[in-house]
Parts: sequence; C-alpha cells; structure tokens
Amino acid sequence: MHRLTAAVSTFMADRRHNALFPGSDQPAFDQPLFGHARGDDPLFAWIKQDIGPEFFWTPHEAYQMAFPEEATQPEELSVIAWVLPQTAATRAAQARATQTPSLEWTMARHHGEAVNEALRRFVVEHLAGRGIAAVAPVLLPQWGRALSTRYGFASSWSERHAAHVCSLGCFGLSDGLITAVGKAVRVGSVVARLVLPPVVRPYDRHDAWCLRAVGVDCRACMKRCPAGAITEAGHDKAACKAYIRGVTGPFVAREQMGFAVSSCGLCQTKVPCEMTNPTAKRSRRARRE
Ligand code: SF4
Ligand code: SF4
Repeated sequence: MHRLTAAVSTFMADRRHNALFPGSDQPAFDQPLFGHARGDDPLFAWIKQDIGPEFFWTPHEAYQMAFPEEATQPEELSVIAWVLPQTAATRAAQARATQTPSLEWTMARHHGEAVNEALRRFVVEHLAGRGIAAVAPVLLPQWGRALSTRYGFASSWSERHAAHVCSLGCFGLSDGLITAVGKAVRVGSVVARLVLPPVVRPYDRHDAWCLRAVGVDCRACMKRCPAGAITEAGHDKAACKAYIRGVTGPFVAREQMGFAVSSCGLCQTKVPCEMTNPTAKRSRRARRE
C-alpha cells in the first residue's frame, strides 16, 4: 500500500490533477485517506443481500465483469478505498450556506468528481504498471442505478459501502459516511487482484461513529436539511432527491454553473461530524475512566 499511497500523494499534489475547477490554483480536495479489505470479507456479501441481491455486486462480481477470462477466487482480491476530504475553504463556504449549496461545494461536486474519476483511473493504471490487475467498479459500463426494495435509490456498487468495509468510516443519520476526517468528503474505490495484510475494522456496527449511536440526541443534520429529508427515522432519499431536482439543481444552473449539478450537501457541514469522528473523543474518555 505504501507505494500506492505515495504515488497518489504525488498525483494529488499536482494542481493539474486536483483543482477546484480547471486552471484553479485551489485544490478540489486535501490529501486522501486509504483503507482496504479482503475481497471475500463477509460484510460485502451481507451488504449485497441487504441492498439488493439481484443488482448489487460483490468485489468478485465486479472484478469478473472486468476480467471475465480470469479464473479468480474472492480471497485473491482486495478492495482499496479512499476518502477525499473537502478543503477547509470549501467547508467554510458551505457552512455559511443555508438553503442552497455554496459555489465552492458545487464545484467540488462537479469538477471534484472528475478529479475522483481521474484518481480511480490513476490507481488502476498504477497497479497495472506493477502487474496487478484492478478495476474501478463505478467506471465499468455495466455499473448502473437501481431501486432497492429496502432502501430506494441504489446502484450496482456503492463507494460509501466499500469505504465502510475498508475501515474508513460509518454511516450517520443523514446517510453520509462519517470518516476520521468527518463526512464532508467524497469517496472512491478499486478492486485489485492482490492480497493485503488483514485489518480489524475499528467498529462493529454501521452507524458506530454517529453521535446517536452513543446515546447523544444529536439533531444537527436534521436541522441543517432545508428539505426536511432527515428525521429520527433517517434519510428520506426521495425527499432529498426531490429537493435537489426541484431546488438546488435549478439554482446551480441559474446562479452558479449554467447547467444543473446534483449539488446540495448542506447536511455535511456545520454539524459535529463535519470534519471529525465525533464519537472518538467520547471513546477515548470512556477508555480513560
Ligand atoms: S449531525 Fe449528528 S446525528 Fe447527524 S450524522 Fe452527524 S453525528 Fe449523526
Ligand atoms: S443533501 Fe441536501 S436535501 Fe439531501 S439530506 Fe442533505 S441537506 Fe437534505
């Protein structure tokens, strides 16, 4: 992993690859965090069953789609995932926004996802250069959106779920992934044919890093959401999507970019989990007592 993270660090330090918008001297993201998991980690199979066994991929299924001629076993694969932290400037601008996203956030959503896509390709090429076959599942032509019976809008591969299995974070009430650097992040992943040292995940439930999981009646993300899409029951994906489609998308087209972008993310800033795992301090305190 060290060679890969060093290569990515150099890639991301180059403003031609990591700019808030083309030609900007501001980075889209801070340096990424990395995690990994075994390709046969049972949590992948569990997530597939939970979200949609008919459309959701395990790492092995994604890999086989890219390399159908190879006879691989799940245990020969690893998933490598990363977290791209929003910069302090983007977070600060977004924290001032109340009904519609800041321009910085929208640019990080639009141009930043192009940075993330280029990073996926870079990681695949870097590994290929070392003789390691890899695929970024979301870049596969077969990747697509689907409807989960339990959760509504879903897709064949979820970057956030991959990052969760790879020890990078847990889901908050708003469905965002709370990582060690908070939930103002974007995430990415690849499946590679290599075996990495095993890791023990630092949590045993999907929402362990949300304050509500440790008994705090946090409602910060509920209050931040102008659409009322976050309640005690969790994140209402349909209401969230309707707000983005009906309000923030048209706002972005009209006032910011000249075209619609699925940008909102107000629930990702000005909350206790914006830039940290808010349960970490509590766990440290509890260990000391
Ligand atoms: S703002 Fe509070 S309730 Fe919402 S995800 Fe973060 S810690 Fe959980
Ligand atoms: S993305 Fe926007 S609409 Fe959706 S839950 Fe977060 S704040 Fe609400």
